[in-house]
Amino acid sequence: MTQIYNRVALIGLGLIASSMCHAMRRAGLAGEIVGYARSAETRAIAREINLCDAIYDTAAEAVKDADLVVLCVPVGAMGAVAAEIGPSLKQGATVSDVGSVKRTVIDAVAPHIPDGVHFIPAHPLAGTEHSGPRSGFAELFDNRFCIIVPVEGADRAAVDRVSDLWRGMGSNVDEMDPDHHDLVLAVTSHTPHLIAYTMVGVADDLSRVTDSEVIKYSAAGFRDFTRIAASDPTMWRDVFLNNKDATLEILGRFTEELFALQRAIRQGDGDHLFDYFTHTRAIRRSIVEAGQDTDAPDFGRSQIKSE
Ligand code: NAP
Repeated sequence: MTQIYNRVALIGLGLIASSMCHAMRRAGLAGEIVGYARSAETRAIAREINLCDAIYDTAAEAVKDADLVVLCVPVGAMGAVAAEIGPSLKQGATVSDVGSVKRTVIDAVAPHIPDGVHFIPAHPLAGTEHSGPRSGFAELFDNRFCIIVPVEGADRAAVDRVSDLWRGMGSNVDEMDPDHHDLVLAVTSHTPHLIAYTMVGVADDLSRVTDSEVIKYSAAGFRDFTRIAASDPTMWRDVFLNNKDATLEILGRFTEELFALQRAIRQGDGDHLFDYFTHTRAIRRSIVEAGQDTDAPDFGRSQIKSE
């Protein structure tokens, strides 16, 4: 693989940034990778594990002379970080991000991007429930999609270059409009996370009654929920606050379906339940056939989880 950017600056050094570091190094996509995180503790860990070629104490220093700057902080922090780095960006540079929500991030970041700097938002659909600079690994993005969400009037060459970087890190690349992205992700990621959080909360209430039997006898379905519900609280708080409309829309539909299943159980309507579960099983099969999950008997628990 050939080098795509001379100098890449990663702002925020958690799971996604550290995985990008490893994936870019694996393929030799960047001449130099530099980084910044807000806490001295995270910067110290990043230095200790040699995550980047250089770690700076301020975001402004880190982005100076960078050809690509990637914002890898929680969605709710993107605007403030963009304001901080705006004046230090190099002419001709590209700013991108990895936020799980796109419309509010674009609205928060775009006003701080100076003329002569490209802004190309992106979202890799890959993650785990772990956080921080030690949690990253080079294979995280392999065969996962990265959605590029070009803003109106975006420079085609700059879009293609960011796309090439993600392909070089192992991803398949698609482009989407921001509102469509937020609706699709509300269905495939955001609402399922909320349901997992709720189910684990319900089980926790119940475990007080049943003396922790919920934990002791936890079955596969519940264990999968607990893994998802262990995801970073800051990240997920920001996702719901920033993808409010689409998540509420999908939750409304979810509640209607749930009521229909509840009625079928109450009325003993086995045909309804059987048909519904047959349909959902086919959806699962198509995800496996598309190579986006494994049909291993452990339900892929030992594998990488897509966000
Ligand atoms: P992470 O491991 O928790 O790391 C977050 C980083 O952001 C840390 O370096 C943290 O700094 C910094 N940070 C947190 N709050 C901040 C603030 N208010 N101002 C400045 N910096 C702040 O998170 P991650 O999983 O890499 O997620 C980063 C981004 O990727 C998020 O926008 C998320 O939506 C998106 N994303 C996540 C996943 C996933 O599954 N995890 C998948 C795709 C996209 P300190 O360490 O110094 O506190």
